[in-house]
Amino acid sequence: MSERLGRLATDLGERTTYDAVAQCSRCGYCEQACPTYVATGEESKSPRGRNQIVRLMIEGKLDDPKAAMESLSTCLTCGACTTACYAKVPVVDIVLEGRRMLRETHWLVKTVTRLMIDSPRAFARLLKLGFFLKKIGASKLGRPFLRMAGLPILAEMDAHTDEAPLRNLDDLMADREEPQNPSYRYFAPCGPRYLFPRVGEASMKALDSLIGPGTYLNNPCCGLLAHNYGDLADARELAKRNILLAENNGNEQIMADCSSCASFLKTYPQLFLQPEEASWRRRAEAFSQRVRDVIEVYGENAAKLPPDVRSGVETTYHDSCRAINGQNIKEGPRKAARRAAGASFCEMAGSDQCCGGAGAFGFTHGGLSDELLRKKTANVASVQAGLVLTSATSCLIQLARGLRKYYPEAKVLHLSEFVAGALEKKHGA
Ligand code: SF4
Ligand code: SF4
Repeated sequence: MSERLGRLATDLGERTTYDAVAQCSRCGYCEQACPTYVATGEESKSPRGRNQIVRLMIEGKLDDPKAAMESLSTCLTCGACTTACYAKVPVVDIVLEGRRMLRETHWLVKTVTRLMIDSPRAFARLLKLGFFLKKIGASKLGRPFLRMAGLPILAEMDAHTDEAPLRNLDDLMADREEPQNPSYRYFAPCGPRYLFPRVGEASMKALDSLIGPGTYLNNPCCGLLAHNYGDLADARELAKRNILLAENNGNEQIMADCSSCASFLKTYPQLFLQPEEASWRRRAEAFSQRVRDVIEVYGENAAKLPPDVRSGVETTYHDSCRAINGQNIKEGPRKAARRAAGASFCEMAGSDQCCGGAGAFGFTHGGLSDELLRKKTANVASVQAGLVLTSATSCLIQLARGLRKYYPEAKVLHLSEFVAGALEKKHGA
């Protein structure tokens, strides 16, 4: 059993996990918003069912831990249930607490996190080696061995991604001229840093142009991987390092360009709710108030974008769960996309429904994940979009895979890439 938070920061105030779960009246109002319930029709794969399982666990009445693990591990942690729930029951945090009660952190998560904390350079070099092997086709040959070695998740990760950049964002930013008085501090989430450096580059270009030049923070991982897979101690350690780094770097806004990461950075105070952690809680609150998801900034500055410069290709928008449910960001990114795409912007049905990526979910629950992905790509096809915009790493991986497989007429970009492209056209004109 892993360490638990014990106390949660809910929309109705601070609660023990039990009080938070007891807020669920079992009304079922959230059921139709839950992708896993809609896909399976099973009560145990609904928010209400998951709440009840965790409640039984806390009350010591759980009689089938295996079924409980199946129920909790199939939750996408998308948060659509809390958005739909009138009592704002924090189902995601409840599910994560339940998972911590049932299992230890997987050794692979522990190893990766420790490597990121203790030897970030060695971690970056290992990734580059992996990407090199992918480029020469060797990683594909290695997949059966990874499966035999009990690491199917690594084989799936390799199979799901096409990207293999040999220069990460740190390399690309090494020669960047840093301004004396920066307008913002860029926080590099692991996705844009290692897998999609083009996204990080585009974000900084777009932000420099819209709000003035900023600096590259060179931060450690936000800790989301450790947090979501059961290791609170490492998540706290990473949070403290990031808080310290921010305290030593002015008081400007901190911009992150993966919505999952930005959303987690905003919830750092929840890691420090015990009375003995009061001073870290205050520092975490000051930190989280500085954090912005870059897509918020694009919305606020949409009027500065040139109109209609990216028209011609039907363009639609997919809400990342941790943007729309985790941070309540809906209109801003659309405002920016609509401005630059003009009449080419179109809404698709189910834009706010999870694509099935959800962190490592796409690698660990292939069947269910693929079902959600097929639905998403069918919605893209129904508006004949050629371009899908989004804002989180796992959505970029999942949508790229889904579009390749089911609707190759379209491709996916991070909103930063779209906005940076629009600004380039403006300056080039
Ligand atoms: S989570 Fe909310 S909406 Fe869902 S059953 Fe419980 S109280 Fe009702
Ligand atoms: S977080 Fe998403 S998948 Fe999990 S119970 Fe809520 S709606 Fe369902």
